[in-house]
Order: sequence, then C-alpha cells, then structure tokens
Amino acid sequence: MLEVVRKVADLRAKTAQYRAAHASIGLVPTMGALHDGHLTLARSAKLDNVRVIATLFVNPKQFGPREDFAAYPRDEVADAGMLERVGVDLLFAPDLEEMYPENFSTSVAVGGLTQTLCGLTRPHFFGGVATVVTKLLLQSLPDRAYFGEKDFQQLQVIRRLVRDLNIPVAIVGVPTIRESDGLAMSSRNAYLSPAQRKMAGALPQIMQETVAELRAGNPAATILPSAKSRLHKAGFDRIDYLELCDEQTLQPIAIARPPARLFVAAFIDKTRLIDNWPVI
Ligand code: AMP
Repeated sequence: MLEVVRKVADLRAKTAQYRAAHASIGLVPTMGALHDGHLTLARSAKLDNVRVIATLFVNPKQFGPREDFAAYPRDEVADAGMLERVGVDLLFAPDLEEMYPENFSTSVAVGGLTQTLCGLTRPHFFGGVATVVTKLLLQSLPDRAYFGEKDFQQLQVIRRLVRDLNIPVAIVGVPTIRESDGLAMSSRNAYLSPAQRKMAGALPQIMQETVAELRAGNPAATILPSAKSRLHKAGFDRIDYLELCDEQTLQPIAIARPPARLFVAAFIDKTRLIDNWPVI
C-alpha cells in the first residue's frame, strides 16, 4: 500500500523506521506526469532495495521565466496509482512552501559539466536541479537514487555533485525507455498534437542514422550539419544543439572515440525535446 507524506519530518520518520528494520532504501525523484520511463526507474529501485521512495515535486527553480512551470502536466492521483502498482512504498509530495520556505537563500552550483549542452540555452536549469536533488537526497538519505539516461547531462551533474559534496548515496543511471517509434518517453510529449507527435518520430530515426555515420569514423563537422538539415526538413524548428561529446566531460569531440555520445535538443513549435544515444 502506497503511503503519501508531504512533510520532511514525516519522510524522516518513515526512513527511520525502514533503517531500524535494516531495510535498504531506493529513491526515485520525479516531477510527476509519470510514464513507463519513470516506472522503469521505480522497478529498478525495487530490484535493488527493500524499500522504495518516489518523490513528486515540480521544481520551479529549474524552469526559466519563459518556460512551462505553470503549464507542466500535474496528476497526482494517477501518478500515485501507477507507483502503487509497481510496488513503491512511499510517495513524498511536498508543497512549494515545504521545499522552499520564505527566505530560502541557498543554491547548489555545479561547474564545468553545466557549461555546455542544455546549460547554454537553459542557464538556470542545472542550478535548480542540483539544489532540489541535494535537498531530496539529504531529506531521505537513501542507499541508492535512480536517474534516467534520457537526461544524460543531468545524470552526470548529479554524479559529480554527490561525489564533490560527499553525499553518501549511490547514483544509478537507467537506460532510456522509448515509444514504439523510438521517441524517448517524456512528460513533455503530451504537449505534442497528433501531427506533431508523428513528426517527432523523425528524431530517433535521424539520431540513429547519424550515430551510424559517426561510428563509421566520419568527422562530426561533416556529419552534423547534414543531420541538422534533415531535422529541419522533418519539421523541427529550432535546434538548440546536436553535438558529439565525450560522455564523461560532455565536451564536443571531432571524431567518435570511446566513450562518445550524440546529444540533441530540438523544438517542434514550443515543445523542446531532448535525446542522446551512445556512439561507441
Ligand atoms: P522528470 O519527471 O522528467 O524530472 O524525470 C524524473 C526522472 O525520470 C529523471 O531521472 C529522468 O531522467 C527519468 N526519465 C524521464 N524520462 C525517462 C525515459 N524515457 N527513460 C528513462 N528515464 C526517464
């Protein structure tokens, strides 16, 4: 039976009970509007831990002033039902005031890894993520916390912050779960009209073709411009980036060499889709 708590004190009372019973704890942070990607994180956490805690908090600090905080899809009842069905024990769903009380003044900034890819076009984003994830980890102190490779830069930033701040939690990355046409599952896919959703299927297709070209040893400088023009032809408006990067440093590389990964962020109208694929 899924229990829901909204206060840090209640969360801590539950984790104290779990610890007293020597139960390992897995944490799955989410912003809700759950889909099978999120549930796969929860299932992975169930396999590795005796107790699983999911969190549901739409974090205003990771949205820019012109982004979709107000419009972000919210359906706690449906989310709780899904979490219960996969066997999650506890849902921590704090309100804004609980997470950011008046005069909240602290932020966590991770350097380096955030100065590229999404960090360039969404300058507020990783500070918001790092701050909220640090809070969630310290509030629950799980043994393991689960994050999706779909947000690969975020995963690397969280690994770095946990290492740098000596937070005693193992970070577990979970491979991207996709729709049948290859589109990465995302809460934001709900913004797409049926016609736009159909167009979005071109993204994984073009990514896979580009990965094959890069894997064959072709230089990024010749492959990426033509991939971008194929994305535009397929109906993508703005492309924030399409970059071949080293997956540890997240710095661009000229020719694929291990560990290389292809990263994309592109818009269909106002909906921003991100994805990444391993190249080698
Ligand atoms: P969000 O609710 O979008 O903040 O995502 C919460 C967690 O679920 C993050 O760790 C995401 O990386 C992960 N996630 C979102 N979509 C997927 C997906 N399609 N496959 C795997 N993990 C995902």
